[in-house]
Amino acid sequence: MSDVNIRTVLVTGSNRGIGYEFVQQFLNSQNPPQKIFATCRDPGAQQSQELKNLSEKHSNVVVIQLDTTNPASVNASVKEVEKHLNGQGLDLLINNAGILNHNSLETQTAEDMMHVYNVNVVGPMLTTQAYHHLLKRSVVESSGKSAIVHISALLGSLEELPHLFSALPVISYRCSKAALNILSRCHMEGYKQDGIISIAIHPGWVQTDMGGEKAPITKQTSVSGMMKIIYSLSHQHSGTFIDWEGKTIPW
Ligand code: NDP
Repeated sequence: MSDVNIRTVLVTGSNRGIGYEFVQQFLNSQNPPQKIFATCRDPGAQQSQELKNLSEKHSNVVVIQLDTTNPASVNASVKEVEKHLNGQGLDLLINNAGILNHNSLETQTAEDMMHVYNVNVVGPMLTTQAYHHLLKRSVVESSGKSAIVHISALLGSLEELPHLFSALPVISYRCSKAALNILSRCHMEGYKQDGIISIAIHPGWVQTDMGGEKAPITKQTSVSGMMKIIYSLSHQHSGTFIDWEGKTIPW
């Protein structure tokens, strides 16, 4: 039994990959949310077409423009979402949007380091800050809890570093996901009194544009594992770092 009653959910980076799969699985769940805010950087782009088609078939899927790194876009998205919520709160925020660039200790540049940090850390920070009042409102209305799910990565784990480092140094990505993990803990501490849960989940190595074709896990399998976790979220999960199967990952 979950502490979070998911009537409204917002997913960032939902036009492809894991984000799009989340939208589909929420739609196909036993008790679909009343509103699924499927956000993406460019709703007019070719790579958002599938999502737009989905929203045309399902009135509870609302496509919203949201570039998580752009404060004006983040704030405009809140205004748009509020119009659809009609005074209701937001029960669940999934900070999914992220990027990975390949680099080693030798090739890592300052520009790339800043860019990846901006998307993978500043984006979730800005988005969560802007939606905080709606997450709080959900708690007041439901007398349950609301939740922030940060899609993190095993590559951000300090303890796991020796196993994968030589094959996949990805310096900017690793640093950004380690930073995202502590952001998740900050959300847990800072929003505890508001009744908001914050959790970091590693989706596994998944077949997406980012994960590539060699990845062992399909989007369907990864997201269905994460959906089980999301539909059983309780305050005990808050501040943890787990994988898509629910196993604890060392920081
Ligand atoms: P994809 O590359 O398939 O999709 C990334 C998504 O993020 C796209 O929708 C993209 O939008 C969006 N995005 C990128 N930058 C921004 C931005 N500034 N604002 C809004 N949206 C943005 O990646 P995955 O689906 O594989 O990854 C999803 C999450 O899972 C990421 O956080 C990733 O780090 C994490 N993850 C993935 C793993 C994997 O094996 N796939 C492993 C571990 C973690 P657009 O189409 O506009 O570019």
